[in-house]
Amino acid sequence: MKLITTIKDMQTEISKQKGLGKSIGFVPTMGFLHEGHLTLLSHARKENDIVVISIFVNPLQFGPSEDFSTYPRDFDRDSALAEAEGADYLFYPSVEEMYPHEPSVKVVVQERTDVLCGKSRPGHFDGVATVITKLFHIMMPTRAYFGKKDAQQVAVIDGLITDFHFPIQLAAVDIVREPDGLAKSSRNVNLLPEERQQATVLFKSLQMAKKAVDKGERSPARLSNLVSEVISNDSNGQIDYVEVLSYPQLKPLEKLAGTIIIALAVKFSKVRLIDNFIIHID
Ligand code: AMP
Repeated sequence: MKLITTIKDMQTEISKQKGLGKSIGFVPTMGFLHEGHLTLLSHARKENDIVVISIFVNPLQFGPSEDFSTYPRDFDRDSALAEAEGADYLFYPSVEEMYPHEPSVKVVVQERTDVLCGKSRPGHFDGVATVITKLFHIMMPTRAYFGKKDAQQVAVIDGLITDFHFPIQLAAVDIVREPDGLAKSSRNVNLLPEERQQATVLFKSLQMAKKAVDKGERSPARLSNLVSEVISNDSNGQIDYVEVLSYPQLKPLEKLAGTIIIALAVKFSKVRLIDNFIIHID
């Protein structure tokens, strides 16, 4: 695996590989890798000639009171994991490399951001779309891999690829979970031990919602109330949102039908966790 820290070097490598006719699978991450990231990498490995992973904690997508400075980082461990998973290139730019000056152009996301994390993290998806646009231009990947854990991000990137005519195939990969159901996240290490135990209620609440749908529940309001109740009863986490929407359009529903998402965000003392189930209803 080759470590690359400058945009120029990365572009040189990419054009070399493209000149050889190689397909490129790209996995953008913020590092502190876990099995969720590694699953994206293994999909990329199977489906492409060349695999590129980027590690960049993007300041543009963090709000002023969010956890940019405490976001976990461990470059040496990440590098070893990425190499073991078969990455060909690790792109690891500094903030100065990615943003040498105040951006003169930013990408503004117009759709699919007035709900869920877009509502509680104003500007977050503009930051994501801006950095992903830059990374797409650098990597020119054949396929780009994103996790369904960040389901709204997948919906936003889907819109970005379509509207900006990127010739890139979007691959959305299923959520990887801990044995007790908690969705794997780099942020889980910032949970206090008691909170880590309580955090299993997120998955449990989604399972109960799924069961209710299987038994015939078709009211979005009753479903989100059920999820909120389960979380409030079994944890000290503060609910940021529980929403039931169409997917990937992320529109409110009168009645559950088609493909829907049950999504939630819960704040613990130092960490805000998200999770979701995407369900297909006939
Ligand atoms: P992050 O480093 O948190 O920005 O995540 C990088 C990519 O990994 C994103 O596309 C995430 O959706 C994906 N990802 C993070 N956690 C998981 C998980 N538990 N399962 C699947 N994908 C994940």
